[in-house]
Amino acid sequence: MDEIIIKEDHFTVFLDEATIQKRVKELSEELLRAYKGKTPIFIGILNGAFPFLTDLVKNYNGLCEVEFMKLSSYGDAKISSGNVKVVKELEIDISGKDIIIVEDIVDTGLSVKYIERMLESHNPASVAVVTLLLKPESLKYNVKIDYIGFSIPSKFVIGYGLDYEQKYRNLKAIYALK
Ligand code: 5GP
Repeated sequence: MDEIIIKEDHFTVFLDEATIQKRVKELSEELLRAYKGKTPIFIGILNGAFPFLTDLVKNYNGLCEVEFMKLSSYGDAKISSGNVKVVKELEIDISGKDIIIVEDIVDTGLSVKYIERMLESHNPASVAVVTLLLKPESLKYNVKIDYIGFSIPSKFVIGYGLDYEQKYRNLKAIYALK
C-alpha cells in the first residue's frame, strides 16, 4: 500500500517496515548494552506504543519485565488538547527499579513529562525514555529523551501503533499526511 486516503486526507509511506525493524533492533541492542547486569522494566504507554514495545523487547536478549500504563489521548483530534490524565495506573512497586518508558511518539513532550514526574515520585533507581519518533520542532516541554528511533518533521503520522481516529494502528509501515 503506497497511499492511504482517509476522508480527504492523503497519506504516503514515510518509514517502511524494513527501516522501522532495523532501527528498533539497533535500539534494543543499545539498551542491552546500557542495562548490562540489570533487569529493566519496560513500561509501554498505551495504546500507541504496543507494536514498538513488542518489537523492542523481542529483540532485547536479556532479562526484563514489561508493564503498561495508559494516559488519556488526543481524543480524535490531530492536535494536542494539552490535557493528560492517567486512565490505567501502573500496578507494581517500582522503587529501586530501572524503568524504561516506551513511547510511540513525542510531540509536545507533555505526556512524557507527566509520566516521568509521576514515576520519579515512586523512587525508582533510574528512569529513561525511549521513543520511536520525536518531532523536535513541536517540543514545548523540557524533556530529556534518552533513546530516539527517528527524528521527524512535525507532520501527522499513522501506522505502527499510531492512529487516525483509533484506526490504522495495525499498519506495518508509518504513513505521513501529505
Ligand atoms: P505529546 O504529549 O508529546 O504532545 O503527545 C504524545 C502523544 O500524542 C502520542 O503518544 C500520540 O498518542 C499523540 N500524537 C502526537 N503526534 C501524533 C501523530 O503524528 N500521529 C498520531 N497518530 N498521534 C500523535
